[in-house]
Formats: sequence, C-alpha cells, structure tokens
Amino acid sequence: MTYDLAILGGGPAGVAAGVYASRKRIKTIFITRDWQGQSTVSEGIENWIGTPKISGADFAKSLENHLRTYAGDMVSINEDESVTKLSKNTDGVFLIETNKGLYTAKAVLIATGSKRRKLEVSGAQKFEHKGITYCASCDGPMFSDMDVVVIGGGNSAFESAAQLLAYCKSVTILHRSAEFRADEKTVEKVLLNPKMHALRNVQVEEIKGDKFVSGLVYKDKDTGEKKEIAVSGIFVEIGSVPTTEFTKGLIELTENGHIKTDPRTQSTTTPGIWAAGDCTDGLYHQNNIAAGDAVKALEDIYIHLHTK
Ligand code: NDP
Repeated sequence: MTYDLAILGGGPAGVAAGVYASRKRIKTIFITRDWQGQSTVSEGIENWIGTPKISGADFAKSLENHLRTYAGDMVSINEDESVTKLSKNTDGVFLIETNKGLYTAKAVLIATGSKRRKLEVSGAQKFEHKGITYCASCDGPMFSDMDVVVIGGGNSAFESAAQLLAYCKSVTILHRSAEFRADEKTVEKVLLNPKMHALRNVQVEEIKGDKFVSGLVYKDKDTGEKKEIAVSGIFVEIGSVPTTEFTKGLIELTENGHIKTDPRTQSTTTPGIWAAGDCTDGLYHQNNIAAGDAVKALEDIYIHLHTK
C-alpha cells in the first residue's frame, strides 16, 4: 500500500509529527532507528517545557510512550530501521528504502536529526563522560569552581562558554583558526568576562588524565610549540553533522548537509517533502523547536494532502 505520509526519525520532531498525524487521521508509516533525539545522553533535561527535569533516557521513553498511546490504526511504527535512500518515482510517489524494506508514500517528513561532530584526538574517546562533554547546559553545573576549556570557535562554543562562566572558575576557548566563526558582538561580550580566556590558532593534540580528565595538550600553530594546560572539564563544540546522506540529489542541502527549509511551513525545495528539527538549516536547534517545527510541517502536510 502507498501511505499518505512517511515520517523518518524518532526524536522530538518525528514523534510530535506522529502524534499529530494520528490525530489528523493521516495514514502514516513511521520509521526510526531508535527513540533518541540527541538528548538521550543528557543526565537531566531541564528545558523541555512542562517537565522541570527529566533524564535523557526517560525523555526517550516518554516520546515513545506518547506516540504509542495515540498511534492507533493510523500510524504504523517501524523501529530499529534505518532509511538508506529516498527517491521519487515517475508518478510522483516517494520511495523510502530502508535496511529492512521498501515503502511508498505521497508525502515525506524528514526528522532524522544530527550527530555531534566528535573530537578525534588521542584520549578523547577514553574520557568521554569522564570530563569530556558535548553539552554545557546539561553538564555545566557539575564543573562548579573548576577550570574548563571549550573547544571550537563558532556561536555554539561562545554560547557554551557564556553559560559555563556562571559556574566555573575559568573558561578557556581553544580555537583551531585565527578568526572566530561566532558573531563579533557575541565574541566581544563573552571575552570581556575576566574569568574568560581564549587561545587561537591552536590544535588540540591529546587529552590527559587518570580516571577523569586532568589536562590537555595543544600545539601553538604559530610557533609549533606544544603546551599543556590543567583542566577538569572539556566542552566540545565543533559543529554537528546532519543525518541527511540518504536525500542526496533529491532535495537541496546547505554546504554542511542541512536541509534547506521554508521556516513558515518547513517545506523543502522538493514539493511533497518537509523537514523538521536538527537536520534542517533552522538557525536554532532545540528539542522544543524540533517539536514545534514538526507540528508546523504537519499542518502544511495536511493541507497538501487534502488539496492536491
Ligand atoms: P559552526 O560550524 O559554526 O562552528 C564550528 C566550529 O568548530 C568552527 O569554529 C570550526 O573551526 C570548529 N571545528 C570544526 N571542526 C573541528 C575539528 N575537527 N576540530 C576543532 N575544531 C573544529 O558550528 P556551531 O555549532 O557553533 O553553530 C552551528 C550553526 O548554528 C551556525 O550557523 C551558528 O551560527 C548557529 N548558532 C547560532 C546561535 C545563535 O545565533 N544564538 C547559537 C548557536 C549556534 P573553523 O572556524 O576553523 O572551521
């Protein structure tokens, strides 16, 4: 059978879309590898509106539970399944190929999220969650009164540094280039704080420690000199990699692989395909925004299916 809609991805965007699709009685196939948005690794999410604090694992369970409660006979849930290719056949129906099968749908919502770009230097893997973290708002308070570094030079790095200044003894930004990528005003404001330091044109080479991080070795690219600083926490903010490879050639992506969307409707450059959440080129990526974007898309998809 050809479904009205295929929802790809089981984070907050995909699940919000699934709940709305069921309520709007849109015959839907929901395909997800798992129920985690990026927050599953969080110790505690404190900004999911309506819930003062929830662990990442419980957040994933509550998303799954919400969709299963209302899926009824409208939303078929296929979990443990990854989309490998999305294409369009000659009569305008979309073909969704996965590691388990092939499905067809009249409309598609892509909500496959993104993965954080990982630090790939000696010791980085060993000390992940043992001093190396990818989330200042989740883990910042654990580093109260300690010296920490933030690796990266974009807006995320500076926003993380700004958050950490509230708790930490000192925050040092380590950036691989001479120029920061973050907005000039943000850089200026953050660097004004006397607890804040910045090292530019440096290459992180090694993370040191015993059970937990105790230091970091970097190379000064101007002089070639290797130096070590003592730190307890390392916050990595070196961008993210959207999960969009399977769309290549079908929809327009930014140079970083994010899906170009119309922010009013979440439609993509290909009629019949919408996208929501971290896989899109939306300026801000948050759980609440992902869910809201998906609801916006569902409103538009409903109109599309009933007026075409
Ligand atoms: P960006 O891609 O903007 O920046 C990533 C930074 O990490 C760059 O400075 C880059 O260095 C560095 N980097 C990349 N790969 C590596 C690596 N392997 N090792 C070391 N450093 C590396 O990502 P962000 O997450 O900061 O931002 C993503 C988007 O979201 C941007 O468009 C940003 O403006 C936006 N954003 C906006 C906010 C706001 O407006 N409030 C808040 C947060 C994000 P280099 O410069 O040398 O390439």
